[in-house]
Amino acid sequence: MPNDRPATNHRTPPICADCGARPETPTTGDGRALCSTCAHIHRLRTRQQAAAENSRAAATEAATLLADELTRRPRPLSPPTFGWASG
Ligand SMILES: [Zn+2]
Repeated sequence: MPNDRPATNHRTPPICADCGARPETPTTGDGRALCSTCAHIHRLRTRQQAAAENSRAAATEAATLLADELTRRPRPLSPPTFGWASG
């Protein structure tokens, strides 16, 4: 009985580049085939890095603003003005 099917009818399942799992639906993260869990972790780390950069930028800006405020001359105090007491 002739067998006309190729010897390798099934394809090799992809392997996650991080954990070695064989996901049915691999995703790509950073150009690599990843399972959904490792892709999620990759996205979390990317966002965590961006948040850390934003935090550093905010701290630098706050320090700059605070230094400006500390070096600024104090304004002279002026007496309170009341609308009914003028004149
Ligand atoms: Zn994985």
